[in-house]
Amino acid sequence: MKKHIKIKQITRLTAIKNIAESYLDTMTIKERDSHILNWWPLDESTPNFLGFSTKLQKLILDNEEPPKNIEGSLADELILAGLKSSYIGVTNDYLAEQLAELGYGTYAIQGDIEHLNTCPCCEYRTLSTISDYDICELCMWEDDGTAAPESYSHPNHMTLSTAKKQFIEKKENLPLNKWVKAS
Ligand SMILES: [Zn+2]
Repeated sequence: MKKHIKIKQITRLTAIKNIAESYLDTMTIKERDSHILNWWPLDESTPNFLGFSTKLQKLILDNEEPPKNIEGSLADELILAGLKSSYIGVTNDYLAEQLAELGYGTYAIQGDIEHLNTCPCCEYRTLSTISDYDICELCMWEDDGTAAPESYSHPNHMTLSTAKKQFIEKKENLPLNKWVKAS
């Protein structure tokens, strides 16, 4: 008799929500504070800003510096939004792997991956802006607009060509399945 194994389906948004909520649950006060600190400055251009509660939108618009002692439920909303935004552009395979690691079981993830820009160094889609000093999460190149392989990039303290060589040397140990390779 042939057995049909049914893999559970889940949307990308739900997967990200579950993963982010799991991480939120495990965070210490110190981790919560540093998450908020690292995610600031925030403004209307913050991903999904219009989906935030009015209270959170106001908190973001009223504060240039991250406010101290944010009320618990508002801090939860803020941290969750930050955690969720860190999964923008990651692959569905990576999300499935994370869900499995967190004990949710095996899922097939449905939904299109958000489109990010290609990092000039590793050539994976990791950057939400172009030439605006975004740092690639995969290879750590700071996208200062350098395109010529041999011109020195000050923020990176090296040329693009050196950075590419370094990426190739260390890439085996990097989470390549997390990001989409530019074709
Ligand atoms: Zn990169």
